[in-house]
Amino acid sequence: MTATTSLEHSNHSESRPSGYVGRFAPSPTGPLHFGSLLAALASYLDARAHNGRWLVRIENLDPPREDPQAADSILHILEAYGFDWDGDVRYQSDRNDAYEAVLQQLIASADSFPCVCSRKQLAGNEHLDGQCVAQPPAFDRHSIDLSIACAWRFKVAAEQQQPLCFDDRLQGRFCLTPSSDIGDFVIRRRDFLWSYQLAVITDDHDQGITHVVRGIDLIDSTQRQILMHRALGWPSPSYMHIPVAVERNGQKLSKQNLARALQADDSGNTLWTALDWLRQQPPESLRGAGNTAVLQWAVEHWQPDVLKGLQQLPAPEGFQRSGV
Ligand code: GLU
Repeated sequence: MTATTSLEHSNHSESRPSGYVGRFAPSPTGPLHFGSLLAALASYLDARAHNGRWLVRIENLDPPREDPQAADSILHILEAYGFDWDGDVRYQSDRNDAYEAVLQQLIASADSFPCVCSRKQLAGNEHLDGQCVAQPPAFDRHSIDLSIACAWRFKVAAEQQQPLCFDDRLQGRFCLTPSSDIGDFVIRRRDFLWSYQLAVITDDHDQGITHVVRGIDLIDSTQRQILMHRALGWPSPSYMHIPVAVERNGQKLSKQNLARALQADDSGNTLWTALDWLRQQPPESLRGAGNTAVLQWAVEHWQPDVLKGLQQLPAPEGFQRSGV
C-alpha cells in the first residue's frame, strides 16, 4: 500500500469530541528529515493530547523549488512512523480558486494593492499609496484583472507603529512593529505564484485550525498572518513555536542544508530519539518498542512546557547533514 493510495484515513472526530484542530503542513522541497519530524511529532502529540483532530497539508505552492517525489515520500514516512492523520491530505496546488477569492476580498477592502516596486524601493518609501501601484487599467479596484503580471502586496497601514504582540505558548510574548519590522509584503508574486502567507491563512481558516504548532523559524511570519486575519475578520489560532534542531555549525537542519532523509525502517527508535530531543524523557524501556507504543506513551505523557523559552538545540548525532 503506497502513501498515495491510502490517504483515506479514519475520521477521529466522533471519538475525539474536543474542538481542537491542529495540522502538519510540510513544503515538499525534499524528503522528511529529523527537523521536520519534530514539527510533525509536536503538532501530532499536542492535538492528540487535547483529543483533537490532526490534519496533514502539503504546501506545494512553488513548483520550481519542489521535488516531484517529495510529497509522496513525506506521506509514506509519516505513515511508516504511525502518524494517523484525520481526513484526506490537502494539497495547496488544488486551491487556486480559494486563494484568488481571498485576494479579491483583500483588494475590495483596500488591504492589498498591485505593486511594481522592488523590496528595496519600498524600503525607502514611507507612503506607498499611489507610488508603486501598477498603472491603470491594471488597477481599478472595481474591475481587477488578476492575469496581469504584477505582484500584489498586503498593505500594512502606515499608522501601525505600535508593536503587534501575541502570546506564544512556549516563547512567551512576541512582538513586532508592523510598519518598521514588516512593511507591505507580497501575497501573490509577479509570476502568479501564491505566497506562503496568503495560502497558509486561507487554509488554516478553511480547515478550522485552532492550534498552530510549528518551528520557531516561522515565528516572525505570525504577525503577518495575524494582520491578514484581522483584515479578513477571521479569528487567529493559538500559536506554539518549538525550538529548531541545528547542525554542529549552528545552522538549522533543513532540506536546503542536506539534512539526512529519514528512513521507514527503525521508526520506533527514531521516534524515541525525537521525544528525547523534545525533552519528554521517554523511558529506556520504550526504546525499540515500535512506533505505536512510542506514540501512545508520548500522547499520554505530552509536556510541551519543558520546552519553554528554548529556541534551538543540537540535532542528535546521526541526523545531521548527509555525508558529513
Ligand atoms: N510549509 C511550511 C514549511 O514547511 C510550514 C508552514 C506552517 O507550519 O505554517 O516550512
